[in-house]
Amino acid sequence: METVAIAPSFSLAGKRVWVAGHRGMAGSAIVRRLEREECAILTATRQQVDLRRQAEVEEWVAEARPDVVFLAAATVGGIHANNTRPADFLYDNLVIETNIIHAAHRVGVQKLVFLGSSCIYPRLAPQPMTEDSLLTGPLEPTNEWYAVAKIAGIKLCQAYRRQHGCDFISAMPTNLFGFGDNFDLQQGHVAAALLAKIHAAKVEGAPEVVLWGTGSPRREFLFVDDLADGLVFLAKNYSDEPHVNVGTGTEVTIRELAELIAGVVGYTGTFRQDTSKPDGSPRKLMDVSRMTAMGWTAPTSLREGFAQTYRWYVDALETAGALRGVN
Ligand code: GDP
Repeated sequence: METVAIAPSFSLAGKRVWVAGHRGMAGSAIVRRLEREECAILTATRQQVDLRRQAEVEEWVAEARPDVVFLAAATVGGIHANNTRPADFLYDNLVIETNIIHAAHRVGVQKLVFLGSSCIYPRLAPQPMTEDSLLTGPLEPTNEWYAVAKIAGIKLCQAYRRQHGCDFISAMPTNLFGFGDNFDLQQGHVAAALLAKIHAAKVEGAPEVVLWGTGSPRREFLFVDDLADGLVFLAKNYSDEPHVNVGTGTEVTIRELAELIAGVVGYTGTFRQDTSKPDGSPRKLMDVSRMTAMGWTAPTSLREGFAQTYRWYVDALETAGALRGVN
């Protein structure tokens, strides 16, 4: 196993910690995790700061004076969204990360954790994908816009570390699922879309659910609260230029994922593949030996993570239904 130097422990106690993107799935999980630390959590609403506007970001950061930043703000989406909104995925993400990283440098932020994505790796990178496979081959065309922006974010952290000595690090989460995901069938990622589709099929008594693509691509899934735990671990224990993969190191096919979710939801119908829809990358398994060598592994099993997410989703639907009833 690879040995990774663990940095002297960085303490969050008493620090002002800004979670950029706190309304998103990853950002809200980071906020939940930071509530267990003795730090002050800072957040900015979209009305307070448009993260795509440099002047607004610089002004807010100069006033809020964070010591630590978790950069979880991003325009994200599933395969269809990425494929059809390339300008949003490239422009928004480039400008958000550039504004925040530069502003953090200007006010002397002590630690910044940038969130990338496993889709930064070449489409046909050897599996499982080590951190070193970055920029060794062509990207997956359905999400290259997002990937190019996230690669630039890693490079920004490295550049500010080299030129200005900033302790800015990058973590590469694998595919995520959990509370607060985007359950929209067109825009969402596969985990949330399947949870929503399979739940609806169960409620309606529908005999089959349509899955996009062939069902054979393999994906790794990480429960978002485990990601947040891993990021806090990295903030405290890691300080170096290379980015670090955060995942489980295990994978399932899309078909197996659908079957697992059907088991959690209690759906007994069948699945049909719509092969007119794209498959995307054939496989995206991360090599997580750097994190493992540092002493961190994801604590929640896939089934347990989906069981928790399903309970959250049903509660959210009920709350939305109750609110509609009142209005
Ligand atoms: P990716 O991991 O970046 O490719 O994006 P997604 O999280 O959207 O996963 C896409 C994979 O799941 C592809 O192989 C799709 O064909 C497959 N898939 C099956 N059904 C669905 C669905 O209902 N929504 C989405 N987003 N993907 C689906």
